[in-house]
Amino acid sequence: MAFEAGSDLAISVYNTLTRRKEPFVPVHPGRVGMYVCGPTVYKPSHVGHMVGPVIFDTVKRFLSWAGYQVKFVVNITDIDDKLIVEAVKQNSTVPIVAERVTADYMDCLKALGVRGIDLFPKATDHIPEILSMIESLIAKGHAYPSAGDVYFDVASDGDYGKLCNRDPEQMEAGARIEISDRKKNPGDFALWKGAKPGEPSWPSPWGPGRPGWHIECSAMSLKWLGAPIDIHGGGLDLQFPHHENELAQSESYLGHAFTKYWMHNGLMKTGDKKMSKSEGNEVVVSLLLKRHKSEAIRYLLLSSHYRSPIEFSEARLEEVGRTLEGFHRFFELFARISGKSFFYLETPKHREAKRLDPALAPEGLLRDIMTLSARLFESLADDFNTGGAIGALHEMLTRLNRFVAETRLEENRDQASLDPLIAGATLLRECGLLLGLFEEETVKESGTGLTDGLMKLLIELRAESRKTKNFAMADQIRKGLTDLNITLEDRPGGTIWRQS
Ligand SMILES: [Zn+2]
Repeated sequence: MAFEAGSDLAISVYNTLTRRKEPFVPVHPGRVGMYVCGPTVYKPSHVGHMVGPVIFDTVKRFLSWAGYQVKFVVNITDIDDKLIVEAVKQNSTVPIVAERVTADYMDCLKALGVRGIDLFPKATDHIPEILSMIESLIAKGHAYPSAGDVYFDVASDGDYGKLCNRDPEQMEAGARIEISDRKKNPGDFALWKGAKPGEPSWPSPWGPGRPGWHIECSAMSLKWLGAPIDIHGGGLDLQFPHHENELAQSESYLGHAFTKYWMHNGLMKTGDKKMSKSEGNEVVVSLLLKRHKSEAIRYLLLSSHYRSPIEFSEARLEEVGRTLEGFHRFFELFARISGKSFFYLETPKHREAKRLDPALAPEGLLRDIMTLSARLFESLADDFNTGGAIGALHEMLTRLNRFVAETRLEENRDQASLDPLIAGATLLRECGLLLGLFEEETVKESGTGLTDGLMKLLIELRAESRKTKNFAMADQIRKGLTDLNITLEDRPGGTIWRQS
């Protein structure tokens, strides 16, 4: 690499802990550890569950491009009250329900282009780490066993409440605090829960039981990332009590800082209501993917600032779908003019300031595109403002289309105009990839699932014919399709088709 890792780009991040935007300086130069709270796997993912993964996947894409090595961990809570209730309801077991729902979560992440997560630790795989942390908290006087449970003693932590900037009484008033005669203070929370008959349990010094939710995240994040973690993320609804408690128990255990930057993403809402299972207005991702392209869902999640609520509606998704069609029309136009696929344009993996300096480009299309891309990078460097970045991406598209129209490139294929067009499109691709957009060519929408199905069948028949050396049949299929203005293109990953 021609530059030092992550050293020449000023990135700022809003830190919930300090309530201000701060320069981003990771604990270890060039390396970033990022932990984001994952799902409790008891019901299929709704689109609100995808907000955090898509946002933080984009954060990782940008930080990696800026030159950092990023390790991104998302936990899976595979033991919890809700899971136990759901397993009973389904006449199944907790591991079976958890495994099925985890598989659905993974499918959703894949569909939405969330590729950056390096590790998905499961709570039930970390019982020894959790037990040793609880034992240490008891030994240090921060926790106490009580009738088979173990509680964190909130009063033992002098700065409890610092993440939410509230004192313990205010927090108790604002949250659903479980009242129990086993606790010293109502705000104390369970690190270990004694098992009721028939519940899944693990042996412990306090009797059989299972971990509380908060301690899982502390144990797993410390194990896989070490402390202090650079970025700890999650939805705004996790700030209290989950993150406040995670912070309290982790710092009491460590004796020093747990997380440098706390980031909280806004929640998805429909109308004026938060999208949640308790509101009954959640939209299941697997069903949504039957009606909309996955790219449109990702685009929608990135189109506002991550700290603001995200407005969800079918109408907005349809509108986004039309916007994306505009991009794909340009990609087709670009392929016709240049003979190159937009999706195969080679982009540099890392930022190099010199390469991206508009002042170094000749006046005209390329300088304009470089100026717009600089705006996109600046938006992302300013507290990961994806909404601003998407605005710049749009303007790049408009400028490229205007250039093609003005130069009449489609008719004259003038090389002097073609070169800046290719350079501009390459930069558009680099910017799109930073946001996880336009990663792969999507098969041209024909408007019906039937056409897609028939095309898939023909492509399979042709592949089969070639395998059995029936080349006449394979050629006949290709020729027949060419007559219908459909072109087949054999790619390393399979055959795609386009209609001209
Ligand atoms: Zn968590």
